[in-house]
Amino acid sequence: MTFSSEVKDELSRISAERDCELAELAAIIRMSGSIQITTGGGTSINIKVVTESASTARRFIQLLKKFLETAEVEIVVTKEKMKKHNLYEVTASDSEMGDFLEKIGILAQKERIFIRDNIKPDLIRKRCCKKAYLRGAFLGSGSISDPKGPYHLEFVAASMEQAQSLARLISGFGLSAGVATRKGAFVVYLKNGDDIRDLLGLIGASESLLKFEDIRVLKEMRNNVNRLVNCETANLNKTVNAAVRQIEMINYLKRIGVYEKLPPGLKQVAELRLKHPDLSLKELGHLMTPPLGKSGVNHRLKKLEEFVEKIKSEREEKL
Ligand SMILES: [Zn+2]
Repeated sequence: MTFSSEVKDELSRISAERDCELAELAAIIRMSGSIQITTGGGTSINIKVVTESASTARRFIQLLKKFLETAEVEIVVTKEKMKKHNLYEVTASDSEMGDFLEKIGILAQKERIFIRDNIKPDLIRKRCCKKAYLRGAFLGSGSISDPKGPYHLEFVAASMEQAQSLARLISGFGLSAGVATRKGAFVVYLKNGDDIRDLLGLIGASESLLKFEDIRVLKEMRNNVNRLVNCETANLNKTVNAAVRQIEMINYLKRIGVYEKLPPGLKQVAELRLKHPDLSLKELGHLMTPPLGKSGVNHRLKKLEEFVEKIKSEREEKL
């Protein structure tokens, strides 16, 4: 089961007030439904909801039956080739369907029938109904990526107006939602982990929220550990590279017979470096007599380097 389907399963089991249920149903129809209108011998209007989620199909039927008790419902389940998921096509018909769709702001029957893009304000006047609308929208066309990977939650809308009205509703709760187009569809998306968590809370997916947070905490802890390890490795590499350079320098001094003539302070640090190539400057300092701090050791090694540079340039001049 994907995380998306877990969330939808949880959402489909929430019990809500009647006005919230109406808002939720309107959102499911708007996001994943289409309207079929047949004229001739009286107009008949059907709704067809197509979804990959069994939870969404079940919830749609359950809610619709609460508002249109006499509705006739037909379910067709198909398995598309090359796809893992079933596709549920739920067709609902009722003699009152036109009036009902008008009531929830999806159809207007005055002059000609059309589908409205904006959410009917009456439906989402109350805060609880706004949340219920978002719940329906998620059931209808929402998805969320596995929290182990990058955070992403999205709704697919059929028009720009629809996408924008949904994004406005989300922003009304202080969350930031972006709108983008993708292959002719309009996508409302959330990328921020905190916003996604809050949205799960708003739509009532409290168990999924806890799971999301658990995975998030683990993931962030692991990232911190990795960052720390990378940082230490980088420091270690720096230490090793510096030590290699110092040892080459000291060996050069030995080759040209200058090593024995080094001032005692420089000679001591050179000897210790040769004996302990893997120690940090601080650790080398502890072995000195008298002990030196990190900056003291660094200073002597700098001196040694300058000394070598000077000798090298003098020898080049002679050549
Ligand atoms: Zn409500």
